[in-house]
Amino acid sequence: MLADLIAMPSVNPMGRAYEGDAPVERGVTAYMERIFDLPGVRIERQPVSDAHENLLIRYPAEAEGPALLFESHMDVVPADDWADRAFAPRTDGDRIYGRGACDDKGSLTAMALALLDIIESRERPPLPVMLVCAGDEEYAQTGIKAFRALPIEVAAGVFGEPTGCAPVVQHKGTLRWDITVHGRSAHTSRPELGVNAIYGAMDVIAALKRHQDELQALHPSPLMTGPMLTVSMIRGGRTRNAVPDACTVSLDFRLVPGMDMDAARAGVIALVGSLGWEVTHSELQLRTPPLATSPEDPFCLQALSICRAHAGPEIEMRGEPYGTDASWIADRAPAIVLGPGDIRSAHAVDEYVEISQVVACAAVYRDIMMWPFPSSG
Ligand SMILES: [Zn+2]
Repeated sequence: MLADLIAMPSVNPMGRAYEGDAPVERGVTAYMERIFDLPGVRIERQPVSDAHENLLIRYPAEAEGPALLFESHMDVVPADDWADRAFAPRTDGDRIYGRGACDDKGSLTAMALALLDIIESRERPPLPVMLVCAGDEEYAQTGIKAFRALPIEVAAGVFGEPTGCAPVVQHKGTLRWDITVHGRSAHTSRPELGVNAIYGAMDVIAALKRHQDELQALHPSPLMTGPMLTVSMIRGGRTRNAVPDACTVSLDFRLVPGMDMDAARAGVIALVGSLGWEVTHSELQLRTPPLATSPEDPFCLQALSICRAHAGPEIEMRGEPYGTDASWIADRAPAIVLGPGDIRSAHAVDEYVEISQVVACAAVYRDIMMWPFPSSG
């Protein structure tokens, strides 16, 4: 199954114009529809945009109730730097190589195997299982946001991403926007007649670096590195012989659980505004909340003991610096990130996953699906 999925290049256009006739995920969607064409299973395509779609696979429980959500994404990042072999799956010992092997088709395969096993054994899980095969996780998370808009009650969520079969209960959130410093152009023989926007941007960048140090002291996190303010791009100036009238820096702001996103952005805007330069801020290009599930939540503790049983007694709950779709459910129900593979292999050349981990995670997911979830009432 994993090899079949890797061979379907569901490459996310990553914001570029998309001209295909069907969403990039369609091959995977159709494959999953065929596999889950089974009695008792409800399958629904959820259109998201011209480029993306979700597939919702629902298996009922003994009684009605909120669903236990399992989500993996069907899209993959481009593989232009190893296009000759990225979509030709290849095994070597316990490893299977190909784009999407660990991010995220290993998780998708393990979730599908877990649910198929329950269906084939004619068992009924305590809560309905909702397997969401999501689109567009890699670029704008429009898939999970579209799912979130549906009137579906969720008891808890497991988001498949390569965590080495360990439950990740917390991760950072992200804010991205551009900060433009405005100056005034002048001939470079008379720079005193202008206002150099690049020099202004230097002040802004220095202030952002100091602000990061302050935030790190204010918001230490036991599970991950602290808040990070990274200037990721800069552009300014028009020609070599003019004082630049504008300079724009792109900011990637990673927040830890417990930080208020709006207050954090307002803090940066106030700081930059205090520097004495004329500055404008763009709208947010990205806003994903941190994942802040309590490690004490019974669902997390149960998931941890199941992981230890199938994947190793040394497994611990973790925090991670990266973001996932789990953020978009975490305000409604306990959510964890859990799946086979190593995040360092995701988005990399010769991406791989260990087949034994995919199998172990399938057993983990199956046990979570069958866990007698304590009723909230
Ligand atoms: Zn992923």
